[in-house]
This record gives sequence, C-alpha cells and structure tokens, in this order.
Amino acid sequence: MDVPPSSPVPDPFDAVSDLQVFGEFGEVNPSISDGSTFTFLSPERMEQMFQGGAEGCYLYARQENPSGHALGEALARLEGTEAAHVTSSGMAAIAATLLGLCRSGSVILAERTVYGGTYALLRNFLPRFGITTRFLDLADLAAVREAFRPEVALVYAESLTNPLLRTPPLGALAELAHAHRVPLVVDNTFTPLIMTPAREGADVVIHSLTKFINGMSDCVGGVICGSRAFLEKLTDVHEGPLMLLGPTMDSLRAAQIYKNLHTLPVRMRAHSANALVYASRLEALGCRVTYPGLAGYADREIFERQRHARYGYGGLLTLDAGDLPSARTLVLRLQDAGVGWLAVSLGFHRTLFSPSGVSTSSEIPPEERDAMGLGEGLVRISVGLDHDIERSWQRLHRCLEGLPLPRSEPRRETTVRL
Ligand SMILES: *Cc1c(COP(=O)(O)O)cnc(C)c1O
Repeated sequence: MDVPPSSPVPDPFDAVSDLQVFGEFGEVNPSISDGSTFTFLSPERMEQMFQGGAEGCYLYARQENPSGHALGEALARLEGTEAAHVTSSGMAAIAATLLGLCRSGSVILAERTVYGGTYALLRNFLPRFGITTRFLDLADLAAVREAFRPEVALVYAESLTNPLLRTPPLGALAELAHAHRVPLVVDNTFTPLIMTPAREGADVVIHSLTKFINGMSDCVGGVICGSRAFLEKLTDVHEGPLMLLGPTMDSLRAAQIYKNLHTLPVRMRAHSANALVYASRLEALGCRVTYPGLAGYADREIFERQRHARYGYGGLLTLDAGDLPSARTLVLRLQDAGVGWLAVSLGFHRTLFSPSGVSTSSEIPPEERDAMGLGEGLVRISVGLDHDIERSWQRLHRCLEGLPLPRSEPRRETTVRL
C-alpha cells in the first residue's frame, strides 16, 4: 500500500494510537475486568457514589466497568469528544441517547432514510411514550429550518444515509440545531475515521461497533460519544437510561473490541481501496452505481469537505439491479461465485450484500421507499478486505453476464486514486 499523504488536519486516529493503557502487570493490553461489583474501602465513599459519583471509583458493572471504560476512552479520542460510553448494541446507544434527550411531547427531526432499526424505533415505538418524529430530507436545509418548533428536542442524522448513501451537510445542520438550542446527534457507523462529526459541530456521535469498528461480525456493540456532562446524565444512578435500562457491554467483549479498534485505520483504507475498484469498474460498464468516490456522486462536494482524505471514500456502495427478480438473481450469483455473502450488516472482512428495500429498509412503507428512490432492485454492498481485488472483480464481473441491469452511458471519468 502507498504511504498515505499527510494532511494539515489532525488524523482522528492519532489520539487513539497515543493512548498508553497497560494491564495490571504491565501487559500490552488493558486488563480484562472480572467483577460485576466493586469493593469500597469505606462506607462514606460508597455513599458518595450514590450522591453523584466518586472520581476513580466503580460501583456496579451495569453502570460502568474498567474494560468498558478503556474502550470508551479510546472511542472518545477517535471521535474527538470529551467522553464516551459503550453499550450492548448500536440500537441501545441510539435508544438511550434519544430517551436521555426527550420527554413525553418531544419532537425529533430525523433524516427520512435512517437505518431501518432506528426508523422503526422512531416511527413505531417511541410514539407510545409521546415522543414523535418528523422525517425530513436533511439536505433540504430550508425544510429543516421550517420544521423547528419549541417541542423539537434534537436533530438526528447519519453521516452517510442507508442505503441511498447521501451525505448530509453536518456543519449547516449543527448551526441550525444550535440556533434553536438543541443538539445534533449523528450516527457515524458507516464512516468511522473518514468523518469526525464532532469536528463539524455534532454534539453526540453514535456508532454501532458491530460494523467497521469491531469488524469481525462476531458480536454486537455500540457507543455514545459526547460531553462528560451528557454521559454522566445518561449513567446517573437515579435517572440515567443507561443505568436504568441496563444495556451494558460485557467486559470480555469490550476488551476484544478494544483490540480490534487498533487495526481500524488499516482496515478502513483497505475497504475504501477495494470499494473504489468495484465502483469505478461498475460505473465504467454503465451500471447504476452509487459510491462517494465517483465523480458523479450527488453529494461529492459535501463529502469531500467532511472527509479525512487518507481513509478514502468508505466500504459501501449500491448497485441498482432494476427490479427485485434481478436483484435476487444477482445476490445469489455473487454468493455462489464467492464474491461474498448474502447477509445484512457491514464492515466485515468478507464482502456482504443484501437487497436493501426488502431487507434492512423494509420497515419503510413501499410508497415512501419509492418517493425517495429506494427501489426494490437496489443492492447494498459492503466491500470486504479481499487481498486480491482483481481476482474478486473477475468473479463479480462474470455474475453480471446476461442480467438485464439498467445501464446509463458508460463513463470513463472516475476519480482520484487512494
Ligand atoms: C447496524 C446499525 C445500527 C444498529 O446497530 P446494532 O449494533 O445492530 O444494534 C445503527 N445504525 C446504523 C447506521 C447501523 O448500520
């Protein structure tokens, strides 16, 4: 791999790689904590914990434990926030954040193409508790401006929308949110290292650690990155949703994800390099492909402004197979040819693909999917760490033979190299 160009903007991984956390006996990794509860040297110290915390003390592992704390600290450094708290899943991080910011009567302004699980939470579940959502195209700043009312409690965005892969203008959204004294919450699951939403003004940054950050598709996990005050509010013994709903990450998992996090820069560059090969070759064939690294990408200017260049354009692309039968044929062929696996999720070392409209975005009613251009033929591809992308491309190319994929004019003009 070429040495990446250095950039005047600090690399978001610098602060992670400078972390010096050793185990109890000087091990090169932090010790794995092995207790659900912690002893106190005095009853007064224990009482202090219940009155708002005692610096450097742990009370009970549901609230916080040393292994989760070490991972949280690394992720806070990654996202450039004061603090971070890990959770048992990405959805747990999202749910706890929303419940921490809202009360009955609150309104959320959210991107209309958020992740399917988030969409279902906002649309089907939270209204039971009087929390409602206005779904908007967050790129339409005039519409966002008009949607503000006193009940609005937050703006909820994703760094890259799923599965349409649009890039919202985070800086402008942060400005709008702050003008109304509400936070901007950004789910950065699709673009770790590539984007640092807090740098654009986001107040809370969430990840599903299940995806790129852990990268092994062997567990689920999540994180909330934000101010120390916000995370203390969420973990408050008496009224914090993280403490009271209990979405705790187990110590063993936290220790495992901590180790995998340290290979993230290498993996992200490889995902991006491989995805760029697929995207530019598919585009050259005239296929309808969406990838932020292509010259014709709709939000190219915003993406360029928000990204850390050395990590490329990410591992996700979409290919429009036209209709559902073609999408089904294509994904089966890809699996049989060994290009990757027909599976939801993303950020794995193997390529994963699924027809989004009928799987991860099936929560969205069909008429709304049509309105936003999310056709049933859309296949989302999370490109893996294939060691020989040429070999994989030959396989992928053969899978397209004879398929009636919609084609546009082939274009040769593609992109910068990584
Ligand atoms: C997977 C995902 C989630 C949910 O995370 P889990 O770890 O599966 O709970 C949230 N947001 C995005 C963008 C995701 O891809």
